[in-house]
Parts: sequence; structure tokens; C-alpha cells
Amino acid sequence: PYTGPSAAQILKKRQQYLNPAVFHLYKDPLHLVHGKMQYLFDDKGRRFLDGFAGIATVSVGHCHPDVVEAIVNQTKRLQHSTILYLNEAIADFAEALASKFSGDLKVVFFTNSGTEANELAILMAKMYTGCDDIISIRNGYHGNAALTMATTAQSTYKFKVTQSGVHHALNPDQYRGVFGSDGLKYAKDVEDIITYGTSGQVAGFVAEAIQGVGGIKELAPGYLPAVYDSVKKAGGLCIADEVQSGFARTGSHFWGFEGHGVAPDIVTMAKGIGNGIPLGAVVTTPEIAEVLTRRNYFNTFGGNPVCTAAGLAVLRVIEKEKLQENALTVGTYLKERLSNLKEKYEIIGDVRGRGLILGVELVTDRESKTPAKLETAQIMDRMKELGVLIGKGGFFGNVFRITPPLCFTKEDADFLVDVMDYSLSKM
Ligand code: PMP
Repeated sequence: PYTGPSAAQILKKRQQYLNPAVFHLYKDPLHLVHGKMQYLFDDKGRRFLDGFAGIATVSVGHCHPDVVEAIVNQTKRLQHSTILYLNEAIADFAEALASKFSGDLKVVFFTNSGTEANELAILMAKMYTGCDDIISIRNGYHGNAALTMATTAQSTYKFKVTQSGVHHALNPDQYRGVFGSDGLKYAKDVEDIITYGTSGQVAGFVAEAIQGVGGIKELAPGYLPAVYDSVKKAGGLCIADEVQSGFARTGSHFWGFEGHGVAPDIVTMAKGIGNGIPLGAVVTTPEIAEVLTRRNYFNTFGGNPVCTAAGLAVLRVIEKEKLQENALTVGTYLKERLSNLKEKYEIIGDVRGRGLILGVELVTDRESKTPAKLETAQIMDRMKELGVLIGKGGFFGNVFRITPPLCFTKEDADFLVDVMDYSLSKM
């Protein structure tokens, strides 16, 4: 049993010593002390089914024994910076990661986060093309440093940031967008940005295959292939931000972009790649990677032995436990059950996503699609009381985000939906 300080004591310390903007998911913040696969346990020993996995961060399950063992073994042997000396952990993981890509995507740069990965990807695109113009999609999230905050296109996450050279294209949003599911019409906006807003040449385009923070929005079909075409014609590189949609989560594919049938020039990843350990990566072609030899580039901890040992263990667990297949089976089942709830409750405006990256959007009125922000928070709180954790997001904070660990079972899916059903019925 847990015998440390109480939740109230911790909260007081957080308020006194941590960043004043510190954010808690629940009105009465949870104090989690232990995790096991798809479960989390609080200080009172209460068990929660984890339907959010720290924002799609815990991929193969909390404290998965294989990953823990890899981390402990490597920590006991050696932990240091990745630069200056040889180490097998980084080389082995780079090789294994590269094997998950087809074509020329064979060179890996390791970072400590998704922000760092996207910063590096955009920098490489600028250096490779000699251009400064970058196009991203409205409602996307790419990180919180200079270039990534600029490409992030939600005011909620923007501070005083210089955005010169960054263009935000129409979001191919199938639920709220002006062109519905017509991907080609939205893609025309990118072509127009290139024609009217740049010299005709761009450095690149960056997008998530499924917007995570933006509320689990799958880009309209046909959009990405058309945009990749326009961007490539303008000399730009296409960057796939797989921080949330990658690593087997969509079930149908290992990478989210594969579901759109496109071939990016650079792929970025983080979160699930390390199952909770700080680790990110950029994968690109040898030709593009070459630009970083023009100066001295390094990242002190990016790809350190402990994190890369964890990354390799995660990859092996995904394969050994067939977690991509599981994400497809359980995710399809879960989405179907959530869609049935939509028939029952007017407040559910949309159910979307694929595999184990699903969204449920709540609206007070299906016609006007007025966001049901308050209700979203209330239902999440009620679900927590009943033992189920999910996330929320979207610009209006009215979308349930369901991104559980990939070991989620059908029974877990049933429990999650039953609890959501009950909570909705008590509204
Ligand atoms: N890209 C996407 C799609 C993300 O969801 C996030 C984090 N929410 C990031 C990049 C940034 O990752 P990090 O927080 O690790 O810097």
C-alpha cells in the first residue's frame, strides 16, 4: 500500500513550486502511484482502466516487464550521452526502426521529444531546399519550441511566436470543415498557398495523419496524396508527424501515413516509441540527412543507451504480442460500440478515428454542432469515478480522446463503453 504524502499535500506543493499554468485532467486531480499494463492505481489502491495512456504515450502497457527489464539492465550496465563513443543500443534500435520503413527512409536521428523531432525535421527541410516557407494544417499540433509552435495551428498552444514563412492551410476536417469529406477541395488550398503566398517554391509541408490534440481528426480521404503532389512539385519535402498516429496505433498500418497511401520524405515520432520513456526520432533518406554534415549537429541525450534499449524492447513487444493486429481488432470493435452509443444519445455528434486512436465529439445540438464542453468534462469526471480514464481534446475541449495502451482487450472496450453509456444516461 502507498504510504507517501497525500494528494492534497502533493497538490499544494505543485501549486507552490511548479509552473503556474500546470494542468490537471480532473476537477479532483488523480494521484497515480502504480501502473500495470492497461491499468493504473491511485494512492488509495483504486484501479482505473486506462483509455488514454498519457496521450497515446504508453504503447505496449504500463510497466511492461520486457521494457522494464531492458531499461533496468541497460541502466545497470551503462547510461551516458550518445555522442563521442560507440554503443550497441543506439545502433541496434536505429537498425530495427529503419526496418519499419520502405524505400529510402533509412537514416535515424534520435531526440528526447516530439517537439525536438519536428524542429529537426523542419530544419532539415529548410536546409535541403534552401527555402523558408513551411505549410501546416489548421488545428494541427507539432510542439512547443519556435518552429513547432509556429506550425502548430491552434491559438490555445501559441505564445509570442514568430511565424514568418509559416502558412496554415484549411483543415480537411470531415465533421466541421466547409468541404465535408472532399479531400481534393481542401488540397486545393495548399496549392493556392504555394501559388499566391510563396515564391512558388517551398521548404515543405508537415501534418499528422490523424490530428491528436486537435480532437482525433482523420484527414479527409484523397487530401494527403494531392497535397504531397503539389508540395513535391514546388520542390518541398513532406513531413509526416507520427507522434500520435504511429507505432501500430491505427491497427491497419504501422504508420498513420500509410493509411493515406503517401510516401513522406521525413517521418517524426515520439510518445509511444518509448512506452513512456523520453524518446523521439526523425527518420529520413541518406540524401536529406546529409544536410546536417554541413555543420556540427548533436543531441546530448537523444538516443542514449537506456532510452534506445527501451525503444527496441517496445518494438519487439509490438511484434511478439501482435499488438498492431490487436489495435485493429479491438479498435474496430470499440469504434463500432461507440457508434452504437451515437444512436442512443443525441449529444454524440461524431465518432471517428481508427484502430486505438478514437474520438467521440459531444455537441449540444447536432444541427449547429455547438460544442458540449461542460458536459464533456462532467462525463469524464463521472467515468473516472467509475474507474475509467479517457482524455479530451479538440479546439473546443469537447472531444473524448480514446488512445489506450495497445494491449487493450475487447472486455476492456466493453467496460469503457458501458461506463460511458451509464455516465451519459445520468446527464
Ligand atoms: N506532434 C504531435 C502530433 C503531438 O501530439 C505532440 C505532443 N502532444 C508533439 C508533436 C510534441 O511532442 P512532445 O510533447 O514530446 O514535445
